[in-house]
Amino acid sequence: MISFIREWDRWCNPLSLRKRRVGFFKIEDLLRVNNMAHYKLMGGCACGNFKYEFNGELAMAVYCHCRDCQRSSGSGSAAVFAAKRSDIAMAGNTSSYKFSGDSGQGVTRHFCPNCGSPLFSDVGVLPDLLFLRIASLDEPSQIKPNMHIYCDSSQTWDRPNDHLPKFGKMPT
Ligand SMILES: [Zn+2]
Ligand SMILES: [Zn+2]
Repeated sequence: MISFIREWDRWCNPLSLRKRRVGFFKIEDLLRVNNMAHYKLMGGCACGNFKYEFNGELAMAVYCHCRDCQRSSGSGSAAVFAAKRSDIAMAGNTSSYKFSGDSGQGVTRHFCPNCGSPLFSDVGVLPDLLFLRIASLDEPSQIKPNMHIYCDSSQTWDRPNDHLPKFGKMPT
């Protein structure tokens, strides 16, 4: 059910040896913790061409180490939160790039056509959710990632080595 990546834990995170003895994290528990809070946050791109308001509960908040996040951020990972599409109000236009996700279904990544700021993605397998870059919030400190995903493609110079749960791909 949960594809918790033991190998990752073993060589990335000595601290998690302790954690493993008390059992594995379940994705349901992580979501329940996130869902306790109601957020009302504003965000947008660097130039102000695109703005959004998130008014609702978090579905998840992660460090994503997938190759697309690496390419689009120019870094080892991107901090991303997911929320219900209906909880996000948007103003302004985006440019987008569509590619095939590891599920085989499409992922469309949106960014500002003027300043290039990465903003959000539509993920074909999870059509009710939007995946937004935490750094696009006006106050990015308001949402903290609580797991690492797509660790299989993390870079040697940016391996996740904190206490957070780690998944090779998406948690299932
Ligand atoms: Zn912009
Ligand atoms: Zn990613």
